[in-house]
Amino acid sequence: MARVTWNGCCRARILPTTNDEGRTTKMTIGVLALQGDFDAHRKRLEELGAKVVLVRKPEQLDQIDGLVIPGGESSTFLKLLGEKGFEKLKEFVRVKPTFGTCAGAILLAKEVENPKQKGLGVLDIRIRRNAYGRQVDSSIREGTLNGAPIEMVFIRAPKIEHVGPGVEVLATEGNDPVAVRQGRVMAATFHPELSPDTRVHSVFLHLVEKFHL
Ligand code: GLN
Repeated sequence: MARVTWNGCCRARILPTTNDEGRTTKMTIGVLALQGDFDAHRKRLEELGAKVVLVRKPEQLDQIDGLVIPGGESSTFLKLLGEKGFEKLKEFVRVKPTFGTCAGAILLAKEVENPKQKGLGVLDIRIRRNAYGRQVDSSIREGTLNGAPIEMVFIRAPKIEHVGPGVEVLATEGNDPVAVRQGRVMAATFHPELSPDTRVHSVFLHLVEKFHL
């Protein structure tokens, strides 16, 4: 499959999930579609009634009310974004609600370990990439979201090692925070899009509603 680069001219497009003429009050959620399991996020969000666009070009960020950055490989995201895409995304995450899962969470973090890596620096956490080692590459575990049990799929998951004072812990697995929020930015180290449960995406949509400009 051809790789779509953030600045690539030819393949980038918005899937026809929006109606450009019809004004609607529905909020539009973008899913960064450079790599990873973006389509699973699209499905979960649509199940909740959101209007979703797959974001493949920096300009598309101007048309959305919130953004999901999916899992994948955070270093590959940085490459595909390029300097221009990275700067545009950095502006976006400072003003509009954004939800990063796994590699997306790594991109949002202020501090990244194993190895150190630059990021958007908008979420006051320290996160360690591939923190569970090779033996437990992926696993499905039960965690807790807002006091209720929830299935969590971990794939080469990072671990949140430290949360700053302004960060709210939304979900835990064992003693570890696995979903957090600071202001309009939310992150999860697991993959909620891979479980048949819309609760985590629903929390994000409420956040988008709350910060809707
Ligand atoms: N290990 C990946 C990284 O470090 C994240 C894995 C994922 O997104 N499932 O970027």
